[in-house]
Amino acid sequence: MQIEKKDIRALSKDQLRDFFVANNDKAFRGNQVYEWLWSKGAHSFEDMTNVAKTTRSMLEDNFVINHIKVDTMQRSSDGTVKNAVRLHDGLVVESVLIPTETRTTACVSSQVGCSLDCNFCATARLKRMRNLEAGEIYDQVIAIDKESRLYHNHPLSNIVFMGMGEPLMNYNNVIKAIDMITSPEGLGMSPKRIMVSTSGIPKMIKKMADDDVKFKLAVSLHSAIDEVRARIMPFSKNFPLADLREALEYWYRKTKNKISYEYVVWKGINDDKASIDALVKFCKYVPCKVNLIEYNPIDDGEFQQASEESILAYIKALENIGVVCKVRRSRGKDIDAACGQLANKEGSVD
Ligand code: SF4
Repeated sequence: MQIEKKDIRALSKDQLRDFFVANNDKAFRGNQVYEWLWSKGAHSFEDMTNVAKTTRSMLEDNFVINHIKVDTMQRSSDGTVKNAVRLHDGLVVESVLIPTETRTTACVSSQVGCSLDCNFCATARLKRMRNLEAGEIYDQVIAIDKESRLYHNHPLSNIVFMGMGEPLMNYNNVIKAIDMITSPEGLGMSPKRIMVSTSGIPKMIKKMADDDVKFKLAVSLHSAIDEVRARIMPFSKNFPLADLREALEYWYRKTKNKISYEYVVWKGINDDKASIDALVKFCKYVPCKVNLIEYNPIDDGEFQQASEESILAYIKALENIGVVCKVRRSRGKDIDAACGQLANKEGSVD
């Protein structure tokens, strides 16, 4: 029976050093290989040119390097780039490069499909197939960084975990990937330029606060009324807003970092005065800002973008209580790269 080889990038630097010592080699060899794997982005052991041939074949006998491959790359008329990324087992996820005048942002996936069931989201229809490994998340960022340099002549400036999947349901790998992205041995990016967006799992928000993470937090709120939120995001029945509020207060006490609420206004769902009043009240609990996101319908069903008047009513009410509120116009609509649209239409998930 053939034993499945382990992905070498699942090993920490210390574990790699231990591996070499256990194989009668020097511990520093672990540092050398680690550097090849992360900062130099080696795709094969053959690439590690300053490592002895015998060591390379020993690594080959024991491990694999599960790199991603960008299968298709689509460019939108507004400069947005969408990558369909094939994983080592043939599954596909998507990641997006979103350029603005001042920055380029990578929107990356954390799961194949999603564990949750938001009714407005194309990814939810795929169901969760598996979590991404830390290396697979890291590789998406590297691929987009290259595209940012190629098309915009500067490195990637920001990262948001708003692609496919709920990042807090793949917490350990997301944290591991962020550690590498921010480490000088990886991209050396400031954690302040990274935002993890969650649909709001109270227990995990508290855990992040306890873990003293330095990145920013966004919560997909979409309604501050339990019944309405459950219609939009059925899983939220298990996480009432009172629990979410308590977790967010805990987060702020510990981190002193403001929270961003992601909020879409849909016609006939949350475009009424009661919804606006509820959001205004919720925003008073913890220092925050609100991003009102333009919606891209995924079908002709119940989720349709609300009128400009409803959005203006939200803005006015939030401004009245001094909450910063931005309207985020969607990018990459023509290539299905906009928020809520990632669903592997091009690459098959087979
Ligand atoms: S919106 Fe996010 S959390 Fe909700 S189903 Fe889609 S990918 Fe999952």
